Amino acid sequence: MRKTIVAGNWKMNGTSESIRALLDGITAGVPVVDGLVTLVCPPAVYLSQVKELLGNAPVVVGAQNVSAQPKGAFTGEWSLEMLQDLGCEYVILGHSERRSLFKETDADVADKVDATLTAGLTPILCVGETLTQREAGETLAVVATQVDAVVQRVGIERFASVVIAYEPVWAIGTGLTATPEQAQEVHAAIRARLAGSGMKVADKLSILYGGSMNAGNAAELLAQQDIDGGLIGGASLKADEFLTICAAAA
Ligand code: 13P
Repeated sequence: MRKTIVAGNWKMNGTSESIRALLDGITAGVPVVDGLVTLVCPPAVYLSQVKELLGNAPVVVGAQNVSAQPKGAFTGEWSLEMLQDLGCEYVILGHSERRSLFKETDADVADKVDATLTAGLTPILCVGETLTQREAGETLAVVATQVDAVVQRVGIERFASVVIAYEPVWAIGTGLTATPEQAQEVHAAIRARLAGSGMKVADKLSILYGGSMNAGNAAELLAQQDIDGGLIGGASLKADEFLTICAAAA
């Protein structure tokens, strides 16, 4: 059985006070179900606060990025060792905002996934096409290139420990969601490609959908055969909405 993951990517939002309230709301209603992982990914500066506030609650913590470098003169960065030190289990990598705003390349993302696997944390590798690419019929090729860059770096066996998030760029923060059929098509294609690349456990890999997932559309997206959870931005900042998505996944 594949793990279902509902992950909140809080992006650059929140204050100590708002985070406390959000976590109070989430922990009050988070479902505890075999095979379901509920994950929150706060801004790095709040990771230790979040970890402390969660205590023994059944919610795990992840980061939104990490350096591939182990330590040293890299002002403004943080390392995998630091994330481990704070009890982080997951790292979002290659998010489209990192790729477009911070110019991360496929090679940079591959370095980070490699380092994250070596450190024993779980990378959530984000892939997805722009609207122009979708309209040009390039969706599957774009996503394949993004996945292949990492597979080639880390090897197909190690890739089995990666979680993929398919996030069409045109659906992120826009209120436009891929239809369940559009998302399912891409998820199935990713899984088939990995199986074709020699991954024996491609049917065990969790592939999440992200892009304007919310309380209203989560159930039909999550009902698709190859959609194993969600990576949620805006809707993860409201406890009731996030919990509705968790319930739909449970
Ligand atoms: P939204 O849910 O706000 O569209 O963001 C999705 C996302 O980028 C999650 O990583």
